Amino acid sequence: MPGSDAPFGLIMTTSADTGSDTATMAAPIEKRPLERYVEPAKPSLVGLSRSVLAEALGGIGVPDRQRRMRVQQIWHWLYVRGVQDFDAMTTLSKELRADLDRHFTLARPEIVAEQVSVDGTRKWLLRLPGETADRPHDVECVYIPETDRGTLCISSQVGCTLNCSFCHTGTQRLVRNLTPGEIVGQVVLARDRLSDWQRAAELLPPLEGEGRTAEGDSGRGHRTPTRTASASDLPLAGGGERRRLVSNVVMMGMGEPLYNFEAVRDALAVIADGDGLSLSKRRITLSTSGVVPNIVRAGTEIGSMLAISLHAVTDELRNKLVPLNRKYPLRELLEACRNYPGLSNARRITFEYVMLKGVNDSLADARALVRLIKGIPAKINLIPFNPWPGTTYECSDWEQIEKFSEIVFDAGYASPVRTPRGRDILAACGQLKSATEKLSARERLALRAMAMTD
Ligand code: SAH
Ligand code: SF4
Repeated sequence: MPGSDAPFGLIMTTSADTGSDTATMAAPIEKRPLERYVEPAKPSLVGLSRSVLAEALGGIGVPDRQRRMRVQQIWHWLYVRGVQDFDAMTTLSKELRADLDRHFTLARPEIVAEQVSVDGTRKWLLRLPGETADRPHDVECVYIPETDRGTLCISSQVGCTLNCSFCHTGTQRLVRNLTPGEIVGQVVLARDRLSDWQRAAELLPPLEGEGRTAEGDSGRGHRTPTRTASASDLPLAGGGERRRLVSNVVMMGMGEPLYNFEAVRDALAVIADGDGLSLSKRRITLSTSGVVPNIVRAGTEIGSMLAISLHAVTDELRNKLVPLNRKYPLRELLEACRNYPGLSNARRITFEYVMLKGVNDSLADARALVRLIKGIPAKINLIPFNPWPGTTYECSDWEQIEKFSEIVFDAGYASPVRTPRGRDILAACGQLKSATEKLSARERLALRAMAMTD
C-alpha cells in the first residue's frame, strides 16, 4: 500500500505513471488525516441534517409522530432566529427544552481571535476539539463586506490533504476533516458576530403564540458579546431577497472541500435550506484544486457554483504548483469542467489563477490560458499572490497583472483581479492562523480578550 507507513500522515502517491523525474516522484501528492473527530458527550445540534436531527430527537424520547414538527420548529430557531439557548425556543414545551438542554448544546466553534480590518474585513480564528483535550485545532473564517454583497470564506479541513507549493496551508499537515456541524457553525457564528439574525427575522411574521418580545430576545443572549457592525458600514444583499450581511459563502478557507465530500455536501445542504440559513446555491461557491472524480459528483449532489484553482497552463508547471495535477492532469480536469452539470452562460465556472512573478505570469501564459478553457462558460479570477513567511514566490508586478488581465479581457472573459482585502490583518485565507501562531502567550490572551469583549 503506498504510504501506509509514511511519516507525518503522508500518502506517498507517486507520479511514476506520468513520467516525472525521480525527485518529483518522491514528493507526496496527498496526506492522510492524523486524527479522527471525537464527538463530545453533549453534542451540538448545529449543522445536523433534518433526518439526523429527527433521529437525535428520537433518541431522547420524542415520539415518532411529533418529530417532523419539532425538527421544523428547532430548525427555525437555529437558522432563522439564531438562538444560542434552548430556553429561547418558546414554541417548544418547557419539558422538551429541558430535555434538549440535558443532552445537547447549540455550541458553535469557539472563537479564539477576531480581527477587524480598516476595510471592514473580519477574520476569526476558531478552535475545534482535537482527538485529545490537550490538542485542539485552529481553523479560520473570513468575512469580506462589499457594496453589493457580504462574502464569508469558510474552511473544510484542519490543514489540507494537498500540498500546493505557493499555499501556506499546503505546507501544514492534514489533521482532520471538519464535521458538517463545524462547517455550518462557521456561517452561524458569523451571523452571531455580525448581528445578522435579526435582519433575517425582520421580514418574517412572528411564530404563532409569539410576540415581538421573543423575537427581540432571539437576537440577544449571545454567549460571546457581539461587536455590532452598524448597518451603514456593512453591505446589504440587494434584489428582492431578504437583506443579509452574509449573502455569499465561498469554500476557500483551509482545506480541499472535495476531499471531505460528504461533510461538505451535507453542510451546504443545511446552508442552502430555504427554511433556514437560506443562501441560494448560486451564492455558494466551492473551490477545488481539481479532484476530478468528485467534480461531476459535486455538480449532481451539491449543485453549488464551482471554482477551479488552475494557476498554470501546462502540466509541467501545474505539477509543481498543484502536485495533485500529477494524478489528475489538465486534460482530465478540463474534461470534468466541460461535463459539470448545469453549466451555462448563466452558471459559469470560475478559474482561479494566482499571479506568481516570473513563474506563470507571462503574456504567453495569458494567451495559452484563454486557449485552454475555450468553449467552457467561464470567468477568470486573477489573484495577487499573498506572500507568507518562508515562501520563495513573489507576487507579480501590478503592471504585469494588468497586461495579463487585458489579454484575458480581450478574449471575452470578465477577469476581475481579486482586490487584496484586509491587508492590515493579513489578507488571504489561510493566513490568520499563521499570524496568530507567532504571537506570544500574552498577545494571544490579549487577542482572545478582544474577541470575547467588545
Ligand atoms: N483547496 C481549495 C480551496 C481553498 S484555497 C483550492 O485549492 O481551491 C482557495 C484559493 O486560494 C485557491 O485558489 C488557492 O489556490 C488560493 N491560494 C492559496 N494560497 C494563496 C496565496 N498565498 N496567495 C493567493 N492565493 C492563494
Ligand atoms: Fe490545499 Fe487549496 Fe492550499 Fe492547495 S491551495 S494546499 S488544495 S488549501
